[in-house]
Amino acid sequence: MTANNTEKETKTCWRCTRELELNDINFGKDSSRRDGYAHACRSCTRQLVSDYQRKNRERKRFWNRSSRIRRRYGLTREFSFAQWLLKLNAFDYSCGYCGDPLQPDQITEDHIRPLSKGGADTTDNTVPACRHCNCTKARNEWQPLTPSQVKQLRRVRGEKAAA
Ligand SMILES: [Zn+2]
Ligand SMILES: [Zn+2]
Repeated sequence: MTANNTEKETKTCWRCTRELELNDINFGKDSSRRDGYAHACRSCTRQLVSDYQRKNRERKRFWNRSSRIRRRYGLTREFSFAQWLLKLNAFDYSCGYCGDPLQPDQITEDHIRPLSKGGADTTDNTVPACRHCNCTKARNEWQPLTPSQVKQLRRVRGEKAAA
């Protein structure tokens, strides 16, 4: 920093790229950094933490639920959580059958062709579904909407993404 003490020291948040005055109000402490402050501003840090916690909750639910189902059929998972998130994104976090927007805790993972009927445990055979559709569908085979049909439906209904 410059020797000029009248000039306030600033720091650019790596995430939102705002240049903020370097103080406790704008940045959290981080002793591992040279300037003693975290590299993201406080509001970005809060956002990152809540994103992380939400994703982590989804991840846990997803792994627990699908492990239970797969164990029943003696299967091991063929796709990763990251692929599942891509799927959720493609469907705009909506049910693949009715197109309703889903909150993270309402999402279920549905096998289009049920595992009990020899359906493959792949992303291609999986869609996000609301509990209602998943339960009603049970062991039947329904043709799910495509991601673009879901988006179209949402546009027509004037709904915004849930997540
Ligand atoms: Zn920021
Ligand atoms: Zn549904």
